[in-house]
Amino acid sequence: MVRKIVKNGLIIDGTGSEPKKGQIVVIVNNRIEFIGKEEDFQASGDETVIDAQGGTILPGFIDTHVHMMLEFSPIAERLATPFSFMYYQAAEYLKTTLHAGITSVRDALGTDLGVKKAVDEGLIAGPRLQLSINALTITGGHGDGYTVSGNVVDLLPSDYPGMPSGVCDGVEEVRKKTREMLRAGAEVIKVHATGGVLSATDHPEFTQFSLEELKVIVEEGKFRKGVKVMAHAQGAEGIKNAVRAGIHSIEHGIFIDDEAIELMLENGTYLVPTLLAPVAVLETAEETGMPETAVQKSKEVIDIHVASFKKAHEAGVKIAMGTDAGVFKHGTNLRELGLMADAGMTPMETIVASTKTAAECLGWEDRLGTLEAGKLADLIIVKGNPLEDIHSLADNDTIQVVVKDGKVEKDIR
Ligand SMILES: [Zn+2]
Repeated sequence: MVRKIVKNGLIIDGTGSEPKKGQIVVIVNNRIEFIGKEEDFQASGDETVIDAQGGTILPGFIDTHVHMMLEFSPIAERLATPFSFMYYQAAEYLKTTLHAGITSVRDALGTDLGVKKAVDEGLIAGPRLQLSINALTITGGHGDGYTVSGNVVDLLPSDYPGMPSGVCDGVEEVRKKTREMLRAGAEVIKVHATGGVLSATDHPEFTQFSLEELKVIVEEGKFRKGVKVMAHAQGAEGIKNAVRAGIHSIEHGIFIDDEAIELMLENGTYLVPTLLAPVAVLETAEETGMPETAVQKSKEVIDIHVASFKKAHEAGVKIAMGTDAGVFKHGTNLRELGLMADAGMTPMETIVASTKTAAECLGWEDRLGTLEAGKLADLIIVKGNPLEDIHSLADNDTIQVVVKDGKVEKDIR
């Protein structure tokens, strides 16, 4: 048993409390054994020291909305890519994400159980995964790749072993589809409750699935203890349907109105804003071959999205950091903190949203999200003090050291 002592850094523990100087974090195996004043710990002298060199020590960040098997690319390129190649690409995306300081993610569709197993067993490097497998979508909905040409152009392949198609309609079909996702290893159920930006045949404000269908999905998840539902929900009506059905988190939430905010507060529903998604889609539209409809819709929603986020934050809605990485380049996740700060959060609030609150959103707050004795040893060391420049986290060279499960996964010093 070799202990590691992380010292000589400012500690931001993820709880939102004041940063601490002169404290250390002691790791044994994959757990935090001690956090506190250096003089209160009896070191044996055999410990490995990780010197933070005056940087800042934080919990590993958690991105509650990513797509690890996807990185948007032009359609011709997708058609010319062999099926199995996506796994090798995903291995790269996972590593890039981990090295960006993200030690846990909730995958919002597209990643199957084999990928999680490969990470868990150390075959490939990557953040800890919470999987949704595939998203439930109505015929013609946000997740249905059918095009008017008659060709089906999905963002990702589906309907292969471990990845059921998500198309379903009516209470009986949604019940069965939820069970199929659970059978395939879903730890959270993802549903498209409205249209979206990337889908060719709908619009973010279109409502998809009835309240009745959404309730059945939530109920099926409840039968399996702890399996919650996350809803892609952009239009106001779809958001309210989702919240009324008992859905755990609203993804994107672009057109949130006052009534939706009231409902979310009453129900304790999380908002996962993904402010980076439309911004990054526009920046990289040419390079990724983003269709014109998606570019137009991104432009249309970008300001409304920020205004909705501000309103929800000011009202006290619980906000968990999530980006939609995969719709754009992986490893740029922490830009989201800068965007949340630009839209009214304090730098400390953006950090809490990306650590403690994100862990709560995943139901993993007993083991992750804050630096506390007994929790899993996921931590990062960053250059400088992110409270003084939250945008600095967007640069991956700022993330100097990444420790996941007590193991040093990155050290670029
Ligand atoms: Zn997404």
